[in-house]
Amino acid sequence: MRTLTSSWDVFCAESLATLEEQGLLRRLRPFERRGPKLVSPDGRELLNLCSNDYLGLAGHPALAEAAARAAHERGTGATASRLIVGDDPEYERLEQELADWKGSEASLVLGSGYAANTGVIAALAGRDDAVFSDALNHASIVDGCRLARAEVHVYRHRDAEHLDELLGRSEARRKLIVTDAVFSMDGDTAPLQEIVELKERYGAALMVDEAHSAGVFGPYGEGLSHELGLADGVDVHMGTFSKAFGAYGAYVAGSESWIAFLRNTCRSLIYSTALPPPVIGSAAAALELVREADDARRALRVKADRFRTRLGELGFDICGSTTQIVPVLAGDPQAALRFSAQLEERGVLAVAIRPPTVPAGTSRLRFSLMATHEDGDLERALDAIAALRA
Ligand code: PMP
Repeated sequence: MRTLTSSWDVFCAESLATLEEQGLLRRLRPFERRGPKLVSPDGRELLNLCSNDYLGLAGHPALAEAAARAAHERGTGATASRLIVGDDPEYERLEQELADWKGSEASLVLGSGYAANTGVIAALAGRDDAVFSDALNHASIVDGCRLARAEVHVYRHRDAEHLDELLGRSEARRKLIVTDAVFSMDGDTAPLQEIVELKERYGAALMVDEAHSAGVFGPYGEGLSHELGLADGVDVHMGTFSKAFGAYGAYVAGSESWIAFLRNTCRSLIYSTALPPPVIGSAAAALELVREADDARRALRVKADRFRTRLGELGFDICGSTTQIVPVLAGDPQAALRFSAQLEERGVLAVAIRPPTVPAGTSRLRFSLMATHEDGDLERALDAIAALRA
């Protein structure tokens, strides 16, 4: 064991001790994932109620086969940025299919959802511009706003009136509104109809992050803006392959000129190695399945509705969730950790979500449903949760 030598060692050690004391220390735990089940480090099988694999595609043989084929044919690494020699020929086909699926002129595949939000927001909004962001937007949007060096206006969660007020007050050259479609930790949805109206009234642009709605909402899984018939009101549709698609990576879809602009300016595209061929292969295979996954979407909705209803009847605060993401508010971090540990003892895994991922005082368990969950397993999980309430 090294002794503490520098002020940096002391800083790290003290910070960790403070986090531990506050119940905010984060630990990595390896889990073997088997569809809707997990095997914990001590060998116990648990019901997985915390992955984003909403349609169960991460274990689908078609994705594995596409990935393996791509690895054998074109290698495991992209070897360079897309703008050098990393532009695998399958990118073009995938981007064309994504654009067709979204009903957009063009699309651009990026390394991850985090890279897409940080890169795209910073590329679109500069010093004389303003970004308007929901208070509960994902951290990657928050970081994109920071990188943009634009004025940033944070409006109260889902509060279109507040957004209206902030838009009205800003004298910025250009205005960009950014919102999650489904909020990742609350499972509620953005008031897209009102936001589209405001965007039009103020001549702003609108970017919608469909990370948790792509695959799940919309007639072909295109996302919430399609489900609501508002797709044409959205300038930049962002989504990921890392959740319902069961793969990795992300995309933005929009008009030809916006996408061409992003190809030239998005730093997370330009200065980062392209996705490896197997990832492109599995994302393309997932897109085919997502388009046809109506039965799975319906099954997911029924399971999520039932889960939310039962938790509501038990008197839990589910933070206004209306989707497959169902939080249960615990309050302080220690309470959330205890709740999670007690559930794990009963064979159910739901990780405690604590600040800074959620605001102070709103630590919670975040349950997320999969189309492949067995109804019997979900009922047993609900009984376990109810027993802890009693
Ligand atoms: N946006 C939202 C709303 C998210 O929840 C996440 C991931 N949790 C991301 C973006 C980032 O996506 P990725 O994991 O692909 O980097």
